[in-house]
Amino acid sequence: MGSGLLVGGEWQDTADRIEVWNPATGEVLSTVADASADEALAAVGAAYDAFPAWAGTAPRERAEILRRAYELMTAEAETGARLIALENGKAWRDAVGEVSYAAEFFRWFSEEACRIAGDFRYAPGRDKTIVVDHRPMGVAYLITPWNFPAAMATRKLAPALAAGCTTVLKPAAETPLTALWVADLLHRAGAPAGVVNVVTTARAGEVSTAVLADPRVATLSFTGSTPVGKILLAQTAKRVLPSSMELGGNAPFLVLEGADVSRAVAGAMVAKLRNGGSACTAANRFYVHESLVEAFTERFQAALAAVRVGPGIDPATDLGAMVSVKERDKILALVDQAEAEGAEAVEVGAAPPGGAFVAPRVVRNVEHGSVLTRTEIFGPVAPIVSVTDEAEAIRMANDTEYGLISYVYARDHGAGIRVARQLESGMVAVNRGVASDPAAPFGGMKESGLGREGGFAGIHEFLETQYLAVDL
Ligand code: NAD
Repeated sequence: MGSGLLVGGEWQDTADRIEVWNPATGEVLSTVADASADEALAAVGAAYDAFPAWAGTAPRERAEILRRAYELMTAEAETGARLIALENGKAWRDAVGEVSYAAEFFRWFSEEACRIAGDFRYAPGRDKTIVVDHRPMGVAYLITPWNFPAAMATRKLAPALAAGCTTVLKPAAETPLTALWVADLLHRAGAPAGVVNVVTTARAGEVSTAVLADPRVATLSFTGSTPVGKILLAQTAKRVLPSSMELGGNAPFLVLEGADVSRAVAGAMVAKLRNGGSACTAANRFYVHESLVEAFTERFQAALAAVRVGPGIDPATDLGAMVSVKERDKILALVDQAEAEGAEAVEVGAAPPGGAFVAPRVVRNVEHGSVLTRTEIFGPVAPIVSVTDEAEAIRMANDTEYGLISYVYARDHGAGIRVARQLESGMVAVNRGVASDPAAPFGGMKESGLGREGGFAGIHEFLETQYLAVDL
């Protein structure tokens, strides 16, 4: 694996380099290439040139490359987990879990590559037949965030390649090493030169502006924050460029009257602490029925107190470092603001000195509408709001511009599903702390995004529909 740009199957160096940091120690791990806009456009050119041949491959051939990528990733899981734990900071078990999740996108879309289907039917007037075809769009520009550096890359690369698109991947500058490993692995799995290109850069805005203005680019798939998604949508609008957007979240976690508190606490631990809380699906705010709020808070706090905070690379760690000191300080500033508003933040356990660590916190006396219920926290901080009934919980849950995922704990599945259907989010976990699955459509309503990744829908983000009118 190189540390340069991957363009047309070759590793290329650049004049400038980006330092990649270990947030658990504050040390520089490595450096990678820092692409300019022109260097990124060269990657677009390589992808554009590779497109006709790749689009013309048999779906089975694409499927077998993706399947080999799944097998390689599974065999090299430790290498990937090490890169993730070092550059992102997350706990070892989260890093191992991420590699497994990331690999599953290769497996799922290796299967989907051979299932691309069209439609054939007679027009109602019987004057012609209607043939509906799905064809790969062309060059796909893929922008990924730092929080799941492997899985966010494979969730885009796998369907794009399965569809027959060629790709330019721009990973987050904080976590480029994992992306380079993923791309290198695809090459070893047999992806031809130019099919997967990687552009690491610290100049995301300048580079993306140039790439999105290039008529050789056919689609954008972005995962990141809602503000950056809006900037990109304004740019794609200029070219009416198809775009899929996986944006921020503000997930409500509802514990309704009659719910099993022990199960709800177990689910809350997973939904809050997965990835150190730096997940778009992380439970952001807890709405707990007044009859359960004391028991839930006490048990949740006790469970959080047992969490070991430390370097992600240490297998004994439950909660690793945040990705950077800047990210840590953002989370701590939110806690300060909540306290200034009158909430009571209880720090549970201790964060070791020296790195971008945040000890978990339960926050009591939180009012709906206060800062922690409005802002994506992205860290191990759990604000708890007491609610009087189900209707109030639903109203508060929906009172946000976001709509990615919600969690509902209810007395039984029927009650949970009834509430889930009233929640404005693309995904709802019912009596569970986790929902994501490569075989399920992942995505949000409202300002959490456009389009779906994974499941049967994922490949369609990279396919054009063409209708042929034929006298048959
Ligand atoms: P971010 O929006 O700051 O960055 C995401 C990516 O966009 C990075 O590659 C970054 O380099 C790039 N970028 C930044 N500014 C840009 C610009 N002006 N033009 C083009 N590209 C630009 O987000 P982040 O801090 O890396 O990630 C956290 C955010 O991502 C959170 O809001 C989280 O909820 C969201 N997220 C969403 C999902 C989802 O599937 N919905 C998954 C993971 C993360």
